[in-house]
Amino acid sequence: MPYEKTTIAAIATAPAAGGIGIVRISGEKALSVADKIFKTKKGLLLSDSEGYRAYYGMVYSKETPVDEAICLIFRGPKSFTGEDTAEIHCHGGIFVSQSVLRAALDAGALPAQAGEFTKRAYLNGRLSLDRAEAVMSLVCAQGDQAAKAALNVLEGSLAEKINESVAKLTRLAAGFGAWVDFPDEDIEDTSPEELRAVFTEVLESLKSLAENYDRGRAVINGVETVIVGRPNVGKSTLMNLLAGYEKSIVTDFAGTTRDIVEETVMLGPLVLHMADTAGLRDTDNPVEKIGVERALKKLDRASLILAVFDGSDILTDDDKMLLEKCAGRPTLALINKTDLPRSLDLEYISEKVDKLVEISASKGEGLQALEKAALEVLGADTFDPSAAMVANERQRSCILRAADMLEEALKDLDRGMTYDALALYNDAAIEALLELKGEKVSDAVVDEIFSAFCVGK
Ligand code: GDP
Repeated sequence: MPYEKTTIAAIATAPAAGGIGIVRISGEKALSVADKIFKTKKGLLLSDSEGYRAYYGMVYSKETPVDEAICLIFRGPKSFTGEDTAEIHCHGGIFVSQSVLRAALDAGALPAQAGEFTKRAYLNGRLSLDRAEAVMSLVCAQGDQAAKAALNVLEGSLAEKINESVAKLTRLAAGFGAWVDFPDEDIEDTSPEELRAVFTEVLESLKSLAENYDRGRAVINGVETVIVGRPNVGKSTLMNLLAGYEKSIVTDFAGTTRDIVEETVMLGPLVLHMADTAGLRDTDNPVEKIGVERALKKLDRASLILAVFDGSDILTDDDKMLLEKCAGRPTLALINKTDLPRSLDLEYISEKVDKLVEISASKGEGLQALEKAALEVLGADTFDPSAAMVANERQRSCILRAADMLEEALKDLDRGMTYDALALYNDAAIEALLELKGEKVSDAVVDEIFSAFCVGK
């Protein structure tokens, strides 16, 4: 896929104060741009470097010294982008990195677009699309297991499974091709049993790639979670416990939280995008009423509901109303205030909600049980980040398309259809898998994928 052979530059590190800031320059003229702004202490020319070398020197912007720095040189095609690359490691801090970047732009480099380094790696054949997307997942990973899963894809576990499947289906395609082109010749057909065996084997392998992602979705992408319950049951105390600091106001006065308070927190390997809501109760107060309506809307959209009850109190009509709203939804009933004597009717609750967890939000007790129950209710308890899987929704939809085609092929096989019909399904399955790897994908799709990256990646 051709692209303009420009030389690009961007700051690759986060825009914040830090020990080191890295400015990356990549393209045909990367080393001559670097020579214009970086003078090595030994007076060596970077464009003479054989690559895989680090140089100590000074960065200049129009003859004015900017910073002492180290410049790493990589020679294409053995670099991340596949092009000549200079990486200037200067002192961290937004101002210094920006000055170095500006010097590189003044010396002829163009500002890199979002994801352009990784896009070039893909276009230059250094990374398949699935691995480029894994780079993105790794950069965005919010937890240990999500990072492990992304690294796993990056290291090729997905590519290996896809390549195996493509190879098996391509072998069948060759047989179908001979049959369709020379129907009268006495070419030995692949038997229906052999075909069924290959289709089934590939189908199982593809399904497991999608299923492991589905199980890990809550770990990889995070879960929209809502904390609901009537006033004073301990919702804000729970929010603060999970957030690790005072995010919501805790008082003895019912109705303190009027609007939604949001925070992303980790619960074991789970990333929870939490919303603490106004207490649910029948009220005439117009402001509180709006809060209650918003809470109910959040509840409707949440993928995980933490319904909090006061274990030291009796069940009220508001509690019962909440239980009705949670029916058939992924809900954990949290019985709070276990440090106080119990008055709550747990039997009634357990008839409505499958999972009950006893906690004391103010004492910080019951979090492990909460984590276990959340993993179970989200189906993430069997997620294995070291097993092969797809890395995102795009890849998942390619896999499911290929799986659909194989299922259709198996049905046709049962109906005794001729091989030309099977060949069409087989080809469509191969095509979907090649699309996953980025071998059959439109420029528009490629642009969209990389535009989600950050600048400098
Ligand atoms: P919310 O209205 O549901 O958000 O409830 P809050 O988090 O504001 O808590 C209401 C009251 O219950 C406060 O006085 C908290 O200190 C208290 N509380 C919360 N959790 C516990 C708990 O586990 N044990 C006890 N004894 N009190 C709690």
